[in-house]
Amino acid sequence: ITFEETGLSPEVLKAINELGYVNPTPIQEKTIPELKDGTNDVVALAQTGTGKTAAFSLPIIERVDCNNKNVQVLVLCPTRELALQITKDIIAYSKYISDLYITAVYGGADISKQMRELKKGSQIVVGTPGRVNDLCKRGVLKLDKLNYLVLDEADEMLNMGFKEELDSIISNTPDTRQSLLFSATMPKEIESMANRYLSNPVQLKV
Ligand code: AMP
Repeated sequence: ITFEETGLSPEVLKAINELGYVNPTPIQEKTIPELKDGTNDVVALAQTGTGKTAAFSLPIIERVDCNNKNVQVLVLCPTRELALQITKDIIAYSKYISDLYITAVYGGADISKQMRELKKGSQIVVGTPGRVNDLCKRGVLKLDKLNYLVLDEADEMLNMGFKEELDSIISNTPDTRQSLLFSATMPKEIESMANRYLSNPVQLKV
């Protein structure tokens, strides 16, 4: 199928068309309809390079309410590099959506700068678990209006020892959120994580 057939908004289609994307990758083809519906939680077994960033970003960005600046989307990922890459991608995909703001937060960088940026208001926050948890505890990052939680490279986050931070962060989010978990592998720990954070998830594999 082509991107036109996915039913994504004209603004998003225009941006990805300019990036030269013509056909959705298999993971995108499966994920986009689930997220456009906005009902089911999703567990996706997908490696890097499969287009997983666009798979969750494209359908989510067009559902953000740009009329307010509550944090509506939180993407958690294992490293600073990945957080920056995801942020860059989302900025490109949302080129034609006005009043959409995205902030990246990660450790090893000045926290006061990230705090100032968050205070200006962003609907989408992308970050690593340690820093995100820190900002939640300081009361600068408020997740009570969150609609979408994305756990990217969940297996890596567990390998890096972020389980407690994830538990603490997710306890600040509403039960009404839609959650997505991406992982390259599906060991028992990821299954139990999915059972803890997701409700009745649809399982996707590519
Ligand atoms: P990811 O798996 O998210 O790291 O994406 C891998 C690479 O594929 C990135 O450089 C994307 O820009 C690119 N990409 C993602 N989706 C598509 C698509 N449908 N068509 C062409 N390139 C894509």
